[in-house]
Amino acid sequence: MKITEEKLQEQELKAKFQDASQLGFGRIFTDRMFTMRYANNEWTEAKIEKYKNFTLDPSACVFHYSQEIFEGMKAYAAEDGRILLFRPEQNVRRMNNSAARLVMPTIPEEDMLQAIEELVLAEKNWIPRAAGTSMYIRPTMIATEAFLGVHPSAEYTFFVILSPVGAYYKGGFQPVKLYVEDTFVRAAVGGVGDIKTGGNYAASLMAGYRAQQKGFSQVLWLDAKERKYVEEVGAMNMFFVYGNKLVTPALSGSILPGITRASVLELAKHLGLTAEERTISIDEVIEDIATGAITEAFGSGTAAVISPVGSLTFKEKEYVINNNQVGPNTQHLYDTLVNIQYGRQEDPFGWVKEIGRL
Ligand SMILES: *Cc1c(COP(=O)(O)O)cnc(C)c1O
Repeated sequence: MKITEEKLQEQELKAKFQDASQLGFGRIFTDRMFTMRYANNEWTEAKIEKYKNFTLDPSACVFHYSQEIFEGMKAYAAEDGRILLFRPEQNVRRMNNSAARLVMPTIPEEDMLQAIEELVLAEKNWIPRAAGTSMYIRPTMIATEAFLGVHPSAEYTFFVILSPVGAYYKGGFQPVKLYVEDTFVRAAVGGVGDIKTGGNYAASLMAGYRAQQKGFSQVLWLDAKERKYVEEVGAMNMFFVYGNKLVTPALSGSILPGITRASVLELAKHLGLTAEERTISIDEVIEDIATGAITEAFGSGTAAVISPVGSLTFKEKEYVINNNQVGPNTQHLYDTLVNIQYGRQEDPFGWVKEIGRL
């Protein structure tokens, strides 16, 4: 794919962040973005241009019917200056699955990868190097046709923006408290819970907001039909540890198939742990926490990589896991994954892709 690169003048460039240890998440964006338009059944105008506002018709489909999909991934700066992506082909494939589900056009995998890689390289001076920091990458597709009828849009914009992000665990690798949501649901089987579309997040805001008001960091979702089976957490998949065995909810159709989840499952086996994907009820979980059969619990996702869970609160009762301490398997999986991502440890899986040098 031919990508045109717009030349930016020195005075158009933004002031860079001063202190990478102060970076938060998703508020700072780089100088450039990738954009490409879809019309008349083809993708055209692939370009890396100045990061700027879009001009869209107020009747554009995306504003009214949420025909929108996105991805979330990161570029890491290795200590030796290599720029690394983690399993980017998985994000590209998932983006196309999301597109197909919402009757949006797919993008050839190699073109989407090229767009991401060329943009990251064009903006490599923005990749932070302080411990635990990275460059968050947000590929997005929106429906842009100006028409209020309910139908798949005939026009789209695909874009990629970049945000340097700080270390997720600034105050140390700390367990979080989850609220088990037994009223609201995130997604039902047959719906769109298994793809990354903004509507899923809109549907989750009320429960998340209420849980935060009560002092919880996130919600643990149950299945939509019976409010009985554990699904996932906010933007993370859920794992329970039984000694040397991991249990994670099977991909039921309403759970997002996380790339970190898949990586944890593979890595666990490599490290000599066993791993099961199956349905697991909240009653079973609570019982197994109470008896001590569940020894650790954690969430998995690109932002946090692994987030230890210290307690679940279900029907006003708190169930504390491992004395609210980070368990050994959680710590080991986290350290190993992060070391692979930053190129500090050998990658026996071929997950890490070097795309250039700082
Ligand atoms: C993105 C996401 C995840 C985690 O997926 P990763 O590929 O591991 O980042 C989990 N749940 C939801 C709802 C998500 O949107």
